[in-house]
Amino acid sequence: PAEPLPERAAGGATAKAPTRKPCGIKFEKVVKRFGDNVVLDDLDFRVAAGERVTLIGPSGSGKTTILRLLMTLERPDSGVIRVGDDPLWHMERGGRLVKANEKHLHEMRKRIGMVFQQFNLFPNMSVLRNLTEGPVHVLGISKDEAVERARGLLDMVGLADKEDAHPTQLSGGQQQRVAIARALAMEPTVLLLDEVTSALDPELVVGVQDLLRDIARSTDVTMLCVTHEMGFAKDISNRVLMFDQGRIVEEGTPEAIFEDPSEERTREFLRAVL
Ligand code: ADP
Repeated sequence: PAEPLPERAAGGATAKAPTRKPCGIKFEKVVKRFGDNVVLDDLDFRVAAGERVTLIGPSGSGKTTILRLLMTLERPDSGVIRVGDDPLWHMERGGRLVKANEKHLHEMRKRIGMVFQQFNLFPNMSVLRNLTEGPVHVLGISKDEAVERARGLLDMVGLADKEDAHPTQLSGGQQQRVAIARALAMEPTVLLLDEVTSALDPELVVGVQDLLRDIARSTDVTMLCVTHEMGFAKDISNRVLMFDQGRIVEEGTPEAIFEDPSEERTREFLRAVL
């Protein structure tokens, strides 16, 4: 059976995700290679604070690598990546790539929320503790306040009755909603979504997508989303970037990209996925 959100959570009126002042993102001449494989090729793009951008394109075109670079799970070979005004990485004179401003980097790691394809919840912790662990230990919020906020978020994602459950007792869709709530519990300035419904059974996809649509409507968090679900991309984003082989081949509003793409490569990709 389908797993829709309870009306209260899906309706949007009560869903309010806590986010801090959103930050913009900038990639400046970013090159990323794995061995001889040039995955990002002199990539330039920017996302304004509060903008919601979806990355589309064939498998292997570098989309996930962009999210991983922002999480500092990978380092670029050259170029500058900024979240807000300060760089995460930059080139020193002489061409050496350095991590910039440890303090900023630490702050950004805390405040960039990422939701993964495979949920990645802490398996040995209750749902509630999955949501309070980061805020208490990383942000230094009091336990009482973290619990109160976590309960608010669980209510928002329609899982108020599951706070004592362990992740394995939940469906994939429920686990992904917990993962989204956990990302939001860190009050992110930027939210990264990597194929968040592709590991879900088809009937569980709608509930997760509805939740994210609702969050997109009710917050101004900057969102960068990788998805193969074009309908969802259309609903959730202000702008779509079409990637191929580590380059942006076309960008535009969802209407322009999905209804009237100008590049043959985009048309070909859309024919294959739609
Ligand atoms: P997409 O998200 O668009 O499918 P990815 O960013 O995952 O693309 O991958 C881009 C390219 O980088 C692919 O050719 C992939 O094989 C390669 N790649 C990604 N991560 C690694 C890694 N850790 N080691 C080696 N190659 C990698």
